[in-house]
Amino acid sequence: MLNLVLFGPPGAGKGTQSAKLIEKYGLVHLSTGDLLRSEIAAGTALGLEAKKLMDQGMLVPDAVVIGMIDSKLNANKNAGGFIFDGFPRTIAQAEALDQLLAGHNEGIQCMLSLRVTEEELTRRLLLRGKDSGRADDQDESIIRKRIQEYENKTAQVAGYYAAQGKLREIEGIGEIEVIFNALCAEIEA
Ligand code: ADP
Repeated sequence: MLNLVLFGPPGAGKGTQSAKLIEKYGLVHLSTGDLLRSEIAAGTALGLEAKKLMDQGMLVPDAVVIGMIDSKLNANKNAGGFIFDGFPRTIAQAEALDQLLAGHNEGIQCMLSLRVTEEELTRRLLLRGKDSGRADDQDESIIRKRIQEYENKTAQVAGYYAAQGKLREIEGIGEIEVIFNALCAEIEA
């Protein structure tokens, strides 16, 4: 199995690059943001609770996203591999992911981290907010809050994978195809 973590701040291009990577490598895409938005659309209790936090740019509790990933891993036992997008976002989530994968005799091969400046992130997210309809993309102060959550709780997750020798950094500003080729080169190395 090929199991990858695609990492980077909100607006780094994880969704765009995931779509291309799953097509090329035949992976199952697990985006906790997408899973949470499906819960919201379905009007579940979990979705309603999560929405309050997401609309404020805050992370949802670890147990919620870990539970969602656990059930998706169990539901896709024959997958050729997974691409984790927007997860893990805390050290606790990274530890839980290692444990869950170990339960399937699997592990993460590498974390691909997209590097983008804060100025460019804000520009992209506001642009996306114009037609994505995402409440958390509309307001500059909420975007700033999400970037702050990233800096306070998520950025350190890169160190967790670096300590295992699995962190690969890729320049996230430039043409989509050029970034994609850089990601593929790291995967194949
Ligand atoms: P982006 O990468 O653009 O911030 P996502 O779709 O990945 O967008 O996430 C949207 C929101 O969903 C986050 O701001 C957060 O509230 C919540 N969320 C998604 N994944 C996680 C996670 N792994 N842990 C906690 N909260 C999460």
